[in-house]
Amino acid sequence: MKVAKFGGSSLASGEQLKKVFEIVVSDPERKVVVVSAPGKRNSDDIKVTDLLIEAAEQQLRGDDGGLLIEDVVSRYASIAEEVDISGTVIAEIREDLHTLLHADQSKPKRYVDALKASGEDNNAKLVSAYFQSQGVEAQYINPRKAGLIVTDVDGYTQVLPESYERLYALRDEPGIVIFPGFFGYTLDGDVLTFSRSGSDITGSILANGVRADLYENFTDVDAVYAVNPNVVPNPKGIRELTYREMRELSYAGFSVFHDEALIPAFRAGIPVHIQNTNNPTAQGTRIVNTRDNTNGPVIGIASDKGFCSIYINKYLMNREVGFGRKLLHILEDYGVSYEHAPSGIDDVTIILRQDQMGEEVEAKIVSRIKQELHADQVIVEHNLALIMVVGEGMRHNVGTTARASKALADAKVNIEMINQGSSEVSMMFGVKGHSEETAIQALYHEFF
Ligand code: ASP
Repeated sequence: MKVAKFGGSSLASGEQLKKVFEIVVSDPERKVVVVSAPGKRNSDDIKVTDLLIEAAEQQLRGDDGGLLIEDVVSRYASIAEEVDISGTVIAEIREDLHTLLHADQSKPKRYVDALKASGEDNNAKLVSAYFQSQGVEAQYINPRKAGLIVTDVDGYTQVLPESYERLYALRDEPGIVIFPGFFGYTLDGDVLTFSRSGSDITGSILANGVRADLYENFTDVDAVYAVNPNVVPNPKGIRELTYREMRELSYAGFSVFHDEALIPAFRAGIPVHIQNTNNPTAQGTRIVNTRDNTNGPVIGIASDKGFCSIYINKYLMNREVGFGRKLLHILEDYGVSYEHAPSGIDDVTIILRQDQMGEEVEAKIVSRIKQELHADQVIVEHNLALIMVVGEGMRHNVGTTARASKALADAKVNIEMINQGSSEVSMMFGVKGHSEETAIQALYHEFF
């Protein structure tokens, strides 16, 4: 049995929906289909999810979000028209959207989430109506009915483990199950969405729940590439990579697959196959538990901007019991999370995402570190990029760090920080934001 997830661009129009239908029915093992909301039809288009968020925010500001809701309805209506389905489905979608728009706003985040989630929810209804119109046994199933229960945390909700057992029952549903991605229900019955692009997470949860043999993730590229094609033209496609390699790459900007979506499939030992809806015969990329890594130490290079570092120096820091705890406690007081903390004998650098910390919070954090921890020096650096060089093969190859740093030196890129993960699956370089592209190109040419 396979779970197949289709992203927003795979469902942006009627033409795309027809491709999805052909793919699903060409393999009787494709039992569960997870859908995103309709995405962009071209580069100037707006995703349905973004229209819904804007409508909710307008309404919360006291303006009328009704016009945007009608834009959303017409997106569904144009898909329905292209695939020749008449009937009540569009009327139902319109009614649902207007009900959500005028729902209780006393918990604004919940209000926005409910509207946001309706993009996938209504798309699943539309997709199932189309499958039925083609004479295929298919049904829309709502996550509440199926038992997809999530933690009650706004902004960072996660699946509750008891969901998996309940979802197993989907195996016994007749026909093809069409399931909306991106959200679940709290135990109190509120809708909560995962982070953006979170339908990948739903697909992985369902694959685990029904104990699928394969989780197929259909998107709009032929493969996961070894490096961002916007930075290096025509990069090498990756045929196979491990969960850990994918996790490291997607953390640092590989957006093909959501970085939170690996764990459920990984825990159940289910391989993930990334494929192209527009070119389903392309080989795609498989994410597996182990792979043979005879073809060099590095499988991919990723990077992400928008980091800053706080460098703290204090003589005899290594002897001071509780220094690290007190330091992190200060960050916690401002709700700031950190990404990495490479350290020396008398110093430590905390790397964090810059957008968490406005100027005012930054000044408070710096002054508390100086006053409460009696630091000798506290220096904040902005606009850093983190570059991850990833590959299981690094463990078995001597000299990978030397090759990487020489390539950066030859390209005149100054390394601000270097961190070889304890896992030995990745090496991280911190560089100034403006050197990011040069650094990536130099590393790609060295390893590929
Ligand atoms: N529609 C949602 C988004 O745009 C979720 C998804 O497509 O996976 O983020």
